[in-house]
Amino acid sequence: MQKHNQKEHLYKLLVIGDLGVGKTSIIKRYVHQNFSPHYRATIGVDFALKVLSWDAETVVRLQLWDIAGQERFGNMTRVYYREAMGAFIVFDVTRPATFEAVTKWKEDLDSKLVLPNGKPVPTVLLANKCDQGIDVLMNNGIKMDQFCKENGFVGWFETSAKAFYCKVNYMQCSEMQLL
Ligand code: GDP
Ligand code: MG
Repeated sequence: MQKHNQKEHLYKLLVIGDLGVGKTSIIKRYVHQNFSPHYRATIGVDFALKVLSWDAETVVRLQLWDIAGQERFGNMTRVYYREAMGAFIVFDVTRPATFEAVTKWKEDLDSKLVLPNGKPVPTVLLANKCDQGIDVLMNNGIKMDQFCKENGFVGWFETSAKAFYCKVNYMQCSEMQLL
């Protein structure tokens, strides 16, 4: 419940990436704390709202725009991107092509949207389905920190909408093999 002296901030965040990488699943996990193996493909765009009680005086409303993977090939992304404050670009660690598409999504975003101060929108890279292993990253010897620096991402995280345990595994793996 909002108290009348609280300040409210509304931020629009984009979640983009190829079809089936898990965008809708990540949002469902974050907003509703659940997972289903049977989501239907998003058509156009879906919305979700996450309300955070930031501190006693501040409420943050995150408006998450879940944009269908195939939309990069249309003209609507320009409209969907409008006035976003940040973005997540998601790929599926089990499908190399979805990682290759990451830079295309970034280009699409940066060519259609800049912040009011003229800077690109802060974008975080999400390596999803890490409960399935991290084959793409491993097999290609990709150094993710370097990739982020070179391609203008503010950072990256391994994620799983399905399982919770992979973070530790991944950290161990990354120490052994990626660094
Ligand atoms: P979207 O097209 O990017 O929105 O992808 P969806 O969220 O619809 O997910 C596509 C499929 O991948 C669905 O069958 C999901 O259950 C599955 N999926 C999504 N995230 C994960 C994950 O982290 N791990 C696993 N194992 N499956 C996932
Ligand atoms: Mg979807």
